[in-house]
Amino acid sequence: MRVYNFSAGPAMLPLEALEAARSELTDWQGSGMSVMEVSHRGKAFVECAAQTEALLRELMGIPENYTVLFLQGGASGQFDAIPLNLTADGDTVDFLNTGQWSAKAIKAARKAGLTVDVLADEAGSRYTTTPAEGSFTVDPAAAYLHYTPNETIGGVEFGYVPESGDVPLVADMSSTILSRPIDVSRYGLIYAGAQKNMGPSGLCVVIVRNDLLGRARPSTPSIWNYAEMAASDSMLNTPPTFGIYLLGKILTWVKESGGLPAMAERNSAKAEALYGYIDGSGYYSNPVAKDSRSWMNVPFLQANPELDKTFVAEASEAGLTTLAGHRSVGGMRASIYNAMPLAGVQALIDFMTDFQRRNG
Ligand SMILES: *Cc1c(COP(=O)(O)O)cnc(C)c1O
Repeated sequence: MRVYNFSAGPAMLPLEALEAARSELTDWQGSGMSVMEVSHRGKAFVECAAQTEALLRELMGIPENYTVLFLQGGASGQFDAIPLNLTADGDTVDFLNTGQWSAKAIKAARKAGLTVDVLADEAGSRYTTTPAEGSFTVDPAAAYLHYTPNETIGGVEFGYVPESGDVPLVADMSSTILSRPIDVSRYGLIYAGAQKNMGPSGLCVVIVRNDLLGRARPSTPSIWNYAEMAASDSMLNTPPTFGIYLLGKILTWVKESGGLPAMAERNSAKAEALYGYIDGSGYYSNPVAKDSRSWMNVPFLQANPELDKTFVAEASEAGLTTLAGHRSVGGMRASIYNAMPLAGVQALIDFMTDFQRRNG
């Protein structure tokens, strides 16, 4: 029995991709082995990784002058790896702070000894807003501008791509990648932990413009050195083979579902339905400014917060799981990534309606 899993991550994956993996789990491509048991340097797996990369390039429209890396250490590893790869001693880096993930990336940049300029700090709104477009100016001498397009905890998402001129734009897309088409050429570097929209945890995808390769500090660990990893096709050491394989299955599902334009349509319909219901309920509320609401993570509060535990427990019994809010925000949070169908959101709305009728 499958539930509707609203976890923020590791998150629900498309059933089609899981079933495709299951059907060949014990005997992959007639090898008599699972994909987890074959050499990462053998022809079959090297082809699998190349196909996964090609599909990602096709779906996201990644230009030729960008390198795709399959790394480990999660998005958190990149908080430290990005300063090592893209800066020198004495550099300044610009940040937009819109939530707890931005804040962690800022902390790592400071730890690397960089001068960090926070051009916009939304902590004052308790992370319920994004800075207005054009309200900040990027330092032309900054090594990069870093931002978090979607803040997974606060449920806050940018409605625009920040203008950074010639300064490379660096984006933590962990919880929004593949949710809609984007113009990759606007970015210097995109990174994303896989466990929200791309597959199992343990894989981190980095998409980096080639002119940013080769600048790493000598102390950079090789497994996080973009140029070294690029030169070895992300196989300097044993890569997360199962994660790369399953990403391929998920990308196949995305493609067969109509690609990123279809994902965008599906995700906007889900978000519209849920926010529309919350706003009109007279019982539930979403704390985020309307122009900054996330398509992927929807935190919501109820008028009787003492019933939060009851809500989460009863929802779980009804097959709607992992709805507890992040401890810093309280209430509930529904993460509705690509794999969550509109029917799952509708089931949640039906449950919320019934819960309000009984308790409101
Ligand atoms: C989940 C998440 C992270 C952390 O990812 P790990 O793979 O656990 O390091 C970082 N940034 C954002 C936006 C996230 O959603």
